[in-house]
Amino acid sequence: MEIDYQSNQQTGGFSPISFTCPHCGHKGIFHQTVNHVLSKDGKFRFGAVVCPGQECKSVSFIITNYEDKVIQVFPNVLIDFDKSNIPIRIIEVFEEALKAHSVGCFVASAIMIRKTLEVIAEDKNSKGKNLQERIADLGSKIMIPKELISAMDELRLFGNDAAHVEAKVFENIGKEEVEISIEFTKEILKAVYQYEDLLSKLRGLKKKEN
Ligand SMILES: [Zn+2]
Repeated sequence: MEIDYQSNQQTGGFSPISFTCPHCGHKGIFHQTVNHVLSKDGKFRFGAVVCPGQECKSVSFIITNYEDKVIQVFPNVLIDFDKSNIPIRIIEVFEEALKAHSVGCFVASAIMIRKTLEVIAEDKNSKGKNLQERIADLGSKIMIPKELISAMDELRLFGNDAAHVEAKVFENIGKEEVEISIEFTKEILKAVYQYEDLLSKLRGLKKKEN
């Protein structure tokens, strides 16, 4: 993209823009902080914005198009997930999958999603000589819908395809496939680490004599 340096006095500034802050994860209305730069063809604007969150106030760099639609944000916005009750090692591996996805490295993301399953199985002491057996063992050990165990098996195959030169099972490993895989992994994490916690909280709300 060729850049033509002009100040916003000449080109009109950003309109306030709504997007999710990559630093704190909150959605807000962002205003530009410094003069932006317009691409030579006039189709894109580059600029810095500051998060309106009182606790955050972090600076992000954005590219918008002529309709003020955000095209790119730096740092990249990661898909959010609930980390409560999830072991730190598993959070780290899954976050790496999300980081890879946020920069368009979908094959790398698929491999890290498979690794997320491996660390879940390891954390729950699942037995078996390969991941397929360990997933089946996990299903017999913990309270988890059988659909999610099937999903784990699909994600295992997806990660296998990503790790090898020739994909055998899946047609393509792209944005859509990875985003569906991420959604399923979030559900699996919920089922493995959060249902029980939520249930005990719910039970804690009951009257003592019950
Ligand atoms: Zn923020």
